[in-house]
Order: sequence, then structure tokens, then C-alpha cells
Amino acid sequence: MFSQPDRARFLPLAQLHALVSRLMQLGYQCLGPAVENGAIVMRELDDPAGLPRGLQAEQAPGRYRLTRDPHNRYFAWANGPQAIKPQAFAAKESLWRVERDDAGTLQFAAVLPAAPAQAIIGVRACDLAALALQDAHFLPDGRRDAHYAQRREQLFLVAVQCAEPGATCFCASTGDGPTPTAGYDLALAELAEGFVAVAGSAKGNAVLDALSLSPATPQQIEAARQQGQDAAAAQTRSLPGRNLREALMSRLEHPRWDEVAARCLACGNCVAVCPTCFCHAEVDEPALDGQSSRHERVWDSCFGEAHGHLHGFNVRSDIRTRYRQWLTHKLATWHDQFGRSGCVGCGRCIAWCPVGIDLTEEVAALTASEVQP
Ligand code: SF4
Ligand code: SF4
Repeated sequence: MFSQPDRARFLPLAQLHALVSRLMQLGYQCLGPAVENGAIVMRELDDPAGLPRGLQAEQAPGRYRLTRDPHNRYFAWANGPQAIKPQAFAAKESLWRVERDDAGTLQFAAVLPAAPAQAIIGVRACDLAALALQDAHFLPDGRRDAHYAQRREQLFLVAVQCAEPGATCFCASTGDGPTPTAGYDLALAELAEGFVAVAGSAKGNAVLDALSLSPATPQQIEAARQQGQDAAAAQTRSLPGRNLREALMSRLEHPRWDEVAARCLACGNCVAVCPTCFCHAEVDEPALDGQSSRHERVWDSCFGEAHGHLHGFNVRSDIRTRYRQWLTHKLATWHDQFGRSGCVGCGRCIAWCPVGIDLTEEVAALTASEVQP
């Protein structure tokens, strides 16, 4: 976000509501952080001045607790259980429906979502990287998923730099954070007196222009840049490399898979919170009167028994092979599909695993030793 410092503006703290107000005037439904069930989630803002201050999230393997930020910042929290995946790839949605008409003939109709224009305030660099991966999956050349596209095109993304990463974050080692570099309409870096603000799209430029802000000073830009470097240096977890394909695929019979399987509950929490997982199932929901049916797409998990079920047998009948599938797809074979790893270092799967399984620890254990016979 600092590649063109002459275009950076300064948004005083007292004017943050003016940004939200402008987005609302443009017709965006504005989503910002809110507390629900003890965690930070993205919810609609009713009031332009309604963004909460002073929230922080303490995270560790199997642990997530909200605390107060002593500096009362707007964006001191590292992340919540969901990134922005649900806004583009809905957890459950209808793809098509079928009805029997008066003549008894089945009539099929596509169902497209009524996607409102949404501005999401507080998107993290790792979330943007994850969304780029979701785009690669759902919108490849010549094969566009209409439901995903309909939602995705309506998003206006206000990213924020992470000044204080969670203890489970490792985006610096995956190259995806903590400072946003691409994929946003606006990016903010929060300083004590306000925000260094940068536009990343024509839409973002138009919003900044309408706010008539002063240019950010070189000192403010340097402070924001340094803040990002300090946040990267503060991360205590990491992966040993950005391409672990050979390291993992050459260890498919490593005894560590049995050890992790003994702890893993196959609950699928890690998949549910992962911003890059895109597996889904399709199910039919017929009406009780037998006259109509809806065809639904729902998020699915490779930890579920049915996920590995092929005709007549299951290719992943135990937890060992399911955990191995998840980790090796995410960190190894994703390179074959998308040219990079499927992990953006958000750390959600570590914090939200009920037994505290930490993929950085698993990878370290798997790759520390020589290849097993
Ligand atoms: S694998 Fe874990 S750390 Fe990596 S992107 Fe998914 S949830 Fe985040
Ligand atoms: S690794 Fe943790 S979150 Fe994932 S399925 Fe196993 S127990 Fe559940």
C-alpha cells in the first residue's frame, strides 16, 4: 500500500465516520466488526459512527478471547472466526429449483442470489489473499461460477493493516501480510491520530476524492510502513517455506500422521474457518408435497466421512488420511492447481481447533526429519 506514497491521504480519526457515511450514500450496505458470542464477526452497521473501538482478540491454539486494547484503536483485533469468504461464497445457497406444472411437466429455473452492494470495513491482508484464491477457483478463464460472481462483483473492500498480529498469525511467512498490497478498493493503516489511506481501484479513488483529505505526510507514511514491518517481526509462528510440495508429498507415510490423527476429532472446524477452503456438496431439498425441489450448495469438509465416499468404497476411511488430505492439499497439491500454497497464514485453524492442533507445528514435525522409508 506504500508503492505510490504521493497518492496516500490522511484520514483523521474524527473523520472515519465520514468514510462510512460516504459508502452508505453510494448505496453500500456497510459491514464492520461487531461482537457476537464472544468473537468478532462482520455485521451491518446502522450508524456511520458505529464502528467499535478498543477490541482485541487474544488467540492461541484452541483459544480465542476478546480483551480491551489499552490504546483504544479501531482495528487492534487481529481477526475473527470468518474472513470475507461468506460474502462471496455463501455457506448455503440455492443453485436451481424445479417445479411440476399443471400438465405434470417439470420446469427447471436457475436461482441467482439477490446480492446487495456491500462495503466490508476491516478486511485483512490475509483475507484479500484468500479471496484472490477463491477467485482463482470460482472465476477461472472460461468457467465462471455465476453465484460467486454475482456476490463478488458487488464487494467494496476497505482493508486495514494489522498493527498487532495475533499469536496464531503467520502471514509474514506465507507472504500475505500484515500490510495489504493488492486486492482492495481502499487500504487504511491506523496511527494514533488517524489513518494513512490509499486507494487501490477507481471506485476507491472516487471515495477518497469525495472526502477531500490532505495528503499523508512522509512521517505518517513512514510510521505506517514501520508499523507493518514491526507487526511482521512480531509474528512468532511460521512455515518453513512457501512451497512445501515435495517436503510433504515425500512424507505421506510419516508416523506423524498417526500422531495427529490420535488428537484430531475430525470436527471440520479448521475447514469451516479457513478462508481458502472451497469444497462444497450439492443436495436436493424436495418439498413435502412432492411438487417442487430446491438444489442447494453447502460448504463441505474433507474431514467428513461422506467426502471420501466414491461408488462402493471410501478412499479416506480414517482420520489419518483425512487430516493428511487436508494438509497436503492445502500446502502441497494446491501448487499444482493454483501455482501457490492454499494457506495465507491467518491462523484461524489453530485458534478454532477444539484440541489446539497447530498446522505450523505439524509441518515442522513432518519436515524436520529425513524422508521416511
Ligand atoms: S490453513 Fe489455517 S492458517 Fe492457513 S489459511 Fe487456512 S485457516 Fe488460515
Ligand atoms: S484439526 Fe482440529 S479443527 Fe480440524 S478437524 Fe481436527 S480437531 Fe477439528
